[in-house]
Amino acid sequence: MKSKAEAEKLVSIGDPLVIQYGFEELENSRAVGRAFDDRAGAFTILEAARLLSKMTTQCEVHAVATVQEEIGLRGARTAAFGIEPDVGIAVDVTFATDHPNIGSVVNQEGKVELDGGPVITRGPNINPKLFELIVKTAKEEKIPVQIVAEARGTGTDANAIQLNRAGVATALISIPLRYMHSPCELLSLKDLEAVSKLLAAVVAKITPRTNFIPF
Ligand SMILES: [Zn+2]
Repeated sequence: MKSKAEAEKLVSIGDPLVIQYGFEELENSRAVGRAFDDRAGAFTILEAARLLSKMTTQCEVHAVATVQEEIGLRGARTAAFGIEPDVGIAVDVTFATDHPNIGSVVNQEGKVELDGGPVITRGPNINPKLFELIVKTAKEEKIPVQIVAEARGTGTDANAIQLNRAGVATALISIPLRYMHSPCELLSLKDLEAVSKLLAAVVAKITPRTNFIPF
């Protein structure tokens, strides 16, 4: 716009805007689109729920697509309070560090590759027993995973879930994503499938007797 008056003909103060960019499939099961962060997470959770509907479960399962994660984990906070879960697994995207313009981020985030499978975080935000259950299940299901460490609370819904009420056994499963927070985020559909399969297999193993007390 050339002036405030010109802009005000089209939008009002506070209108939310996005750059319109559709979903496009690329070669080798890769896809590009807008806001895969975190529509990809919502997809994998719903797909896991679909897989679980054909499996035997021994716990009550809630699938939640949270709002306002990027501005302070706000939806996860209210959802966790409302549901009051014993266990919570957050699904988010994480930086794939396997492309040329990633620069020094790879030094901090470690090596994360597209098609490398679900990224499982370890650290104080994560319940050690739940972490072990996820890694063990991945091995049994022959799903390759990538393990990363986060020495603090993560910037994801896992942080809000863990700190809910008197504390929740929490884990974080992430989807490798290139060009995060741009209108052309890029991921592997194979990774999405692997995350859903792993999520469903882990949830199917949790029973009322599963003990998440760390030591
Ligand atoms: Zn984000």
